[in-house]
Amino acid sequence: MDEMDNQEIEAEVVVIGGGPGGYAAAFRAADLGKQVVLIDSRDHLGGVCLLEGCVPSKAMISAAELLNSMHDAETMGITCDGLHLDMKKLGGWRDNILLQMSKGIEGLAKRRNVRWIRGKARFADTHRLILQESAVSSVQFQNVILATGSRPFVPTPFVADGRQVLTSSDMLQLKEIPETLLVVGGGYIGLEMGGCFRMMGSDVTIVELTDQLLPGTDRDLVEVVARKLKADGVTVLLETKVTALKSREDGVTATLMGKDQQSRVADFKKVLIAVGRLPNTENLGLDRIGLQLDNMGRIPVDQQCRTQLDHVFAVGDCTTGPMLAHKARRQGLVAAEVLCGHEAIFDPRTIPAVIFSSPEIAYSGLSEYQAQELGRDVKTGRFWFRGNPRAQTLLQNEGFAKIISDRETEEILGIRMVGPCASELLAEATLAIEMGATLEDMIATIHAHPTLAETMLEAAEVTRGQAVHFFDPRKRS
Ligand code: FAD
Repeated sequence: MDEMDNQEIEAEVVVIGGGPGGYAAAFRAADLGKQVVLIDSRDHLGGVCLLEGCVPSKAMISAAELLNSMHDAETMGITCDGLHLDMKKLGGWRDNILLQMSKGIEGLAKRRNVRWIRGKARFADTHRLILQESAVSSVQFQNVILATGSRPFVPTPFVADGRQVLTSSDMLQLKEIPETLLVVGGGYIGLEMGGCFRMMGSDVTIVELTDQLLPGTDRDLVEVVARKLKADGVTVLLETKVTALKSREDGVTATLMGKDQQSRVADFKKVLIAVGRLPNTENLGLDRIGLQLDNMGRIPVDQQCRTQLDHVFAVGDCTTGPMLAHKARRQGLVAAEVLCGHEAIFDPRTIPAVIFSSPEIAYSGLSEYQAQELGRDVKTGRFWFRGNPRAQTLLQNEGFAKIISDRETEEILGIRMVGPCASELLAEATLAIEMGATLEDMIATIHAHPTLAETMLEAAEVTRGQAVHFFDPRKRS
């Protein structure tokens, strides 16, 4: 980090934001020979993803799942007496991971001669940034990449006080397990956090405005998770709105209104607001450079991650498209390559998505519905994890893998999974879709035995009517 005071500096490329989009862009531009300055307002590099999003949430979920599997271990003849979760130790372990990973990124920045500056940046004019809370006062640049990410959205009249009414960032810092937890919002963050704290012992209620958890996700996938949540004792209230939150000395009184328009109140120790995220675009002085935002406050970009201004690029959560770390990373690389004069394009066939629920949901490519909307004639096949020996030996046999393929060409258009390690299995699915693989390609690829990945192989076989471990009398010739 820069130590000298009040400097005015120059750079060929400035990147604002040290998350997965920003540091990937900075590293790629430096590797391609540019003199790069990377600005971030935090004490460490890594952004939301590393410091308060993807990584810490998965650390907490891993711990919760381990605890849960120890309870289940009775089935295998293992008795675990006196299980205890020490939140302080868990927090220390988690924070150590974050620190090690961010130090790794900072070390890589140094080795690449990327100059990392701490501070808050905003535009003074089209080629100059002013920095606040920084040892550097301004940066003159040729090109800039905006990678300022996003923050939790807390709708009025609610106020996240960080004590009882929490955002996901606050939630990850909790020092003890709340006895009761209300999760406002049944999207992926609400589901991941709600499921996690249930496994750790909280009495959890999830409230969702629409008629299903994970709105927009295939219902058959969501049903598997919803069933498991119910079995685990999570209360899910659909088509319900939280209309008021009143903080008390030792908790919060929430007013809930269901489909029947009747209000009822309930008390909770903590409330998590997880209703979406807002792009960090309003304090950047974008009006000074004439950059227009869309109606959701995001920066529109083309396939080269270029904004309306030729020398200004934007990547990640602050742009249009899904707010996902892997999307930010890929865009960052594309933006860096384009501004270095290379031919690059952000044009993925699919951006995979994972929900780290229990069991995990993972999908790539088109759903059946989306394919039909596009006028594709499709055939699908599904194979359940309960028919997979590895899933049985892991004591995790819920869920299925489903393949959506073109009826005639048999090109794989989409893969949907809900089940054990779906997040890991998704890489094969995504590669298959990117490469335009067919059912034949999937079936002729030998999958090691016994592995969970065989579920996808068998789903391809079911789609073609030739599965080994599934008997369909209609397919008998
Ligand atoms: P960010 O990671 O948000 O980084 C932006 C950085 O820019 C921040 O450090 C910010 O402080 C800094 N900044 C902003 N404005 C300025 C300024 N003016 N000057 C200087 N610095 C500035 N995504 C996944 O793909 N998988 C997951 O499993 C997943 N889990 C998540 C779990 C949670 C609880 C949350 C909250 C998010 C999760 N996400 C996940 C989303 C993921 O974190 C984001 O998509 C990702 O971090 C976006 O990366 P980014 O580079 O666009 O920005």
